[in-house]
Amino acid sequence: MLILVTNDDGIHAPGVAALAESLAPLGQVVIVAPDRDRSAIGHALTLHAPLRADELTPGVFAVDGTPTDCVNLGIHGLLPATPDLVVAGINRGANLGDDITYSGTVSAAMEATLMGVPALAVSLGGETYTASEYSNAGGAALFLARKTLQDGLPVDTFLNVNVPSGRIRGMRLTRQGRRRYADMVVEKLDPRGRKYYWLGGGECDFEYLDGTDCHALHEGFISVTPLHLDLTNFQSFECLSLWNADYPVG
Ligand code: MN
Repeated sequence: MLILVTNDDGIHAPGVAALAESLAPLGQVVIVAPDRDRSAIGHALTLHAPLRADELTPGVFAVDGTPTDCVNLGIHGLLPATPDLVVAGINRGANLGDDITYSGTVSAAMEATLMGVPALAVSLGGETYTASEYSNAGGAALFLARKTLQDGLPVDTFLNVNVPSGRIRGMRLTRQGRRRYADMVVEKLDPRGRKYYWLGGGECDFEYLDGTDCHALHEGFISVTPLHLDLTNFQSFECLSLWNADYPVG
C-alpha cells in the first residue's frame, strides 16, 4: 500500500510525524506537507505562483504551498504512483461543525476525494497535546485507514475524524454540528494610533446537539463524520423550485 500523509499545521508539527509513524504498518508512507503552518487556509489552490518541494529526508517533502497544493503535487508529481489512501493530520485542534469549511486538514481530504483517492482528515481535540494523545489519535487513524483500505468508502465521501484528548470511550458515527458564534472581531489600536482587527477573538463554543461531532467529542468519543463532496441541499428543492417559475421570460 502507498499512503500520502499531509496536514495544515506544517511539516514540523508533531501531528504529521505521529500520523506517518502510526500508518507505517500499512505500507509505504510519503509525507507531503506545507513548509509552515497553513491552518484555516481552507481549500485554497496556488495557481499564480510556482511551487517548490524540498525533500528533507527520503519520502518527506516540504512544499511552499497549501494542503490542497500538497495533495495535488503528491498525487501528480512526487509520489511514485497514485496512493491507495490520503490521510491529513493529525491536526492540533478539533475540526468540528461549521469550522470544517475553513480547515486545511479537511480540505486536503476533500481534494484527494475529488481525485478519486479515498481520504481521511484526523484531528486531535482538547486542552492538551501530549505525545501519548497524538499516539492515541494515530491509533484511531490506523484503525479507520485499515477499514477504508479493506471496505472502501461510499462514492464521493470522505471521513472527518476527531479524537478527544484523555481517555477514549469509543467511536461514534456523527453528523456535522453547529458553531455558536460570539464576538469574533477584536478591534484595537496599533502603536501609531491606527485601528487594526483580529478575527476569531471571541469565545469558541458549539451547540451540543445529540448525534453531532461536537457532542461526541465532548462526551469523550472519537467522532467519525462522513462528508460528501456534493453540498446541494436537496430538501430545499421543493420550496425553491417555485422561484424559477416566477422568473420573467421573454
Ligand atoms: Mn491546523
